[in-house]
Amino acid sequence: MTEHAIDVGALCVNGERLWASLETMAQIGATPRGGVCRLALTELDRAARDLFVEWAREAGCTVRVDRMGNIFARRAGHDPHAAPVLTGSHADTQPTGGRYDGIYGVLGALEVVRALNDAGVQTVRPIDVVVWTNEEGSRFAPAMIASGVFAGVFPLDYGLARADSSGTTIGEVLTQIGYDGEEPVGGFPVHAAYELHIEQGAILEHARKTIGVVTGGNGQRWYEIELVGVDAHAGTTPMDLRRDALVGAARMIDFADALGRRHAPHARATVGMIEASPNSRNTVPGRCFFTLEIRHPEASVLAEMDAALRAQLAQIAEDLGLAHQIEQIFDYAPVPFAPECIEAVRNAAQQLDLSHADIVSGAGHDACYVARVAPTGMIFIPCIDGLSHNEGEAITPEWAEAGANVLLHAVLASSGTLASQASP
Ligand SMILES: [Zn+2]
Repeated sequence: MTEHAIDVGALCVNGERLWASLETMAQIGATPRGGVCRLALTELDRAARDLFVEWAREAGCTVRVDRMGNIFARRAGHDPHAAPVLTGSHADTQPTGGRYDGIYGVLGALEVVRALNDAGVQTVRPIDVVVWTNEEGSRFAPAMIASGVFAGVFPLDYGLARADSSGTTIGEVLTQIGYDGEEPVGGFPVHAAYELHIEQGAILEHARKTIGVVTGGNGQRWYEIELVGVDAHAGTTPMDLRRDALVGAARMIDFADALGRRHAPHARATVGMIEASPNSRNTVPGRCFFTLEIRHPEASVLAEMDAALRAQLAQIAEDLGLAHQIEQIFDYAPVPFAPECIEAVRNAAQQLDLSHADIVSGAGHDACYVARVAPTGMIFIPCIDGLSHNEGEAITPEWAEAGANVLLHAVLASSGTLASQASP
């Protein structure tokens, strides 16, 4: 059979092999309750990395490690000088993590390589299967530190100096586990990047869709709000003479919730922490502190929500005779993914006759940083009951296979094959 005789459109991954790899990998750091505890750069993370490297080499890949410990397993392309197509995710987990968050995207990408090997397909561009270091941010804050360094968001020295609770830095521990690579971090052109991931929410499952075509990541703004009224006797202070900071907070929380609903389906507005003072049952609270965060994938809507919040919070404070202060402590711009990558994912799902829907990523992912330096897309599959960062995290073998097939065809569309030379 000549290369031109391969029907690239009919290629598919081996779902059983992918599932078996997921099962084997899940033994590394397995918890009694069926989850995985594999904190970044521990001995368990090292074991998972070693197994990935072994499998990647068996699949004919050349393995490079950069100075942040990011692993790149390359399947050579016909044109060795062409910018690669990058695909992968992370191998670390939360302390009570699941079996699929992150590692599914790594092993799904490895399965793409294995499937291409089986079919004897040569791509024009190299394919790099990547394992990003410390995505979770559980052992070393912040999250997604190594993809952040890759994308130029953080300097390398900053990344290497992040310390865990015992004071051990990423740089030290990379040396200890033998993943202090020599390659520079980033700085090379990437033609396209794809990350396959479980949704970590319940939108796809509720909509009965198998594939989420991720159009981007939410922007976020975090605020801390302080209200000051007057502490007063609960029995002797008439309602119209009160300056009750907690009532002010209550009205503001209700407004924020309504604002989030007004900008459905993508908006989020959450008050997660509140402290009333003096927090005594017979005293009108004279002081209240609470946090508020809003999220939306479009910068203009985020700005609109911000303006509405500030105006309404000022009005509520004035109505109740409260002094108020709003401090914005975090501003993270929305991440739009590349139209050509979104299109490649959507086309792949269509070709494969898989039910699919556009979706925005509510969580942060390595792809959100990679998107700053390369055209990037993501593929979501559902997870049962939307459960994630939980030992009970679960997916079906059918979903796992479907997502990897979409990844295969999205990667093929970007990498080009000798038969079709297609490339978006
Ligand atoms: Zn993840």
